[in-house]
Amino acid sequence: MQDLVLKDCDTFYGKAQALHGVTLSVSVGQITSIVGRNGAGKSTLLKTLMGLQPLSRGQRLMGDNDLSDRAPHQLNKLGLAYVPEDRQVFPNLTVMENLAVSTFAHRTLEWSADKVLELFPRLGERRTALGGVLSGGEQQMLAIGRALLCNPRFLLLDEPTEGLAPIVVEQLVKAICRIRDAGVGVVLVEQNLSIPLSISDTILALETGRVRWAGPAGQVRDTPTLLDEFIGV
Ligand code: ATP
Repeated sequence: MQDLVLKDCDTFYGKAQALHGVTLSVSVGQITSIVGRNGAGKSTLLKTLMGLQPLSRGQRLMGDNDLSDRAPHQLNKLGLAYVPEDRQVFPNLTVMENLAVSTFAHRTLEWSADKVLELFPRLGERRTALGGVLSGGEQQMLAIGRALLCNPRFLLLDEPTEGLAPIVVEQLVKAICRIRDAGVGVVLVEQNLSIPLSISDTILALETGRVRWAGPAGQVRDTPTLLDEFIGV
């Protein structure tokens, strides 16, 4: 299966450079976590993968295909789905309508609304509730479910567990592992290390828009202080 790769990429907001020569490789059926402090460039890296931030230098590749100049909707068709930090659930649509929006837009193969409800039983209990009244955890489940209905090969998640109760975090982490087991390549942005350490195959630490460390999560598990310099508060 083809890897998703960013190669030596620079990204700017106006004149301010947010990413400096970042290289990242993501495999299907694996979890790759991006960690780093506030403002390190984690969200920018996800947005750059998804085409929401232009590449000023460098390449976006899927296998041998150069996708550097593709727009987000084209990347979505090619198998990338993105769940932003603020989830962007439609507040005036019900849970099922939020899912239907994605089903209308994509010819889904692997994933169906039923499969999403099986992954997140809580959404089934809340199927007629409006998006705007859902709890943070329920919104996150809905946002992930909606992204899965694009049938992605790669799922980009920006701090999916931020601010959620431990029991909800546990449910989301289990679901993320099941999504990985279904063959999806998951890119997970997290500010601290605990979840990345427990479930990732690969970890990449960013600091001020630069990759400071990247390698197997097992290496960080063996040497827990390895990334202290680049994360922590
Ligand atoms: P956080 O954990 O706070 O979300 P982050 O690691 O995701 O942080 P980014 O949001 O990617 O970091 O920000 C990286 C840098 O780019 C920061 O210096 C930030 O101020 C800047 N930045 C982010 N978004 C914009 C924007 N829309 N316009 C200008 N600068 C931005």
